[in-house]
Amino acid sequence: MNFDLVIIGGGPAGLSAAIYGTRGGLTTAVIEKQAPGGQIVLTSEIENYPGVDKESGYELAMKMMNQAEGFGAQFIFDEVQSVDVKNKKVKLASDEISYGALIIATGAYPRKLNLEAEARLTGKGVSYCATCDGAFFKGKKVAVNGGGNTAVEDALYLKNFASEVYLIHRRDALRAEKTLADALLKSGVKIIWDSVVENINGDDSVESLTLKNVKTGELSSLQVDGLFVAVGQVPESKAFDWLELDAQGYVITKEDMSTAFEGVFAAGDLRQKPLRQVVTAASDGAIAANSAIKYLTENGLK
Ligand code: NAP
Repeated sequence: MNFDLVIIGGGPAGLSAAIYGTRGGLTTAVIEKQAPGGQIVLTSEIENYPGVDKESGYELAMKMMNQAEGFGAQFIFDEVQSVDVKNKKVKLASDEISYGALIIATGAYPRKLNLEAEARLTGKGVSYCATCDGAFFKGKKVAVNGGGNTAVEDALYLKNFASEVYLIHRRDALRAEKTLADALLKSGVKIIWDSVVENINGDDSVESLTLKNVKTGELSSLQVDGLFVAVGQVPESKAFDWLELDAQGYVITKEDMSTAFEGVFAAGDLRQKPLRQVVTAASDGAIAANSAIKYLTENGLK
């Protein structure tokens, strides 16, 4: 298979790149290892994307995907094994695809706490997705760990189901934006400041957490049935470590989304940038596709 433009990752950045690429006349493939939408499908409500009043992340993702497909983008559901930059080929588990230009938009995934019981109790009370698993905790007690937008949104969402929601944060001020922080303070969510989760306790399911106050060193026990981990993101850049990465593993690009490799662009949450939102991911995708069109045209490849 051969495409003018191959996009790795079907989140907002990749889908936006597909819309701009196909509308720019490029044969375009989007390779996605799971379901399209990326991290936004984990969001119950998007209300800061211009023109969208209130919509679930899943609904917005499906609209973006249908739009890209409507313009002719082809979706390939497979996992990228490696990229042969010299010969311009993407190796998949079951196929190989040639490209003229490549956009990498693989995004980021939730960071783990790296606690002993975390992996063992994942799916048994430990979760990284409130919108996916919140409904399982109807009438139960849950805790959210983190102080960013995701943690606060998760805590507010979980108030719809749980009898008690705690938010555990390692500092005494939230990182989340003011509107969300204000909503949290009014919501009845109990905030446990200056604390980290030291242990998750339970044999077959979460029974309690051991918390440590980072200022006093004091340990305490919190009885909960669930723990939602929302302590940030890790860039999905492992397969692309040949690109220039910063200390956290984010891909360094120029303003036009180009990387140090000719014809290879990066877009979205995977990129080193100051603001990771749906709107900035979509913007990155549009710029990357535009740069790809320019690259192909100027080099007589289209
Ligand atoms: P984030 O903004 O990086 O926040 C991560 C939070 O987890 C911080 O409060 C951090 O504490 C804490 N943390 C990090 N490592 C920890 C550890 N090992 N143990 C305990 N706590 C730890 O991540 P995010 O909330 O997932 O958001 C990711 C990006 O998506 C952000 O750019 C965010 O703005 C965006 N986002 C936007 C929206 C929206 O606009 N509605 C919704 C969701 C996400 P410190 O504060 O002390 O660093």
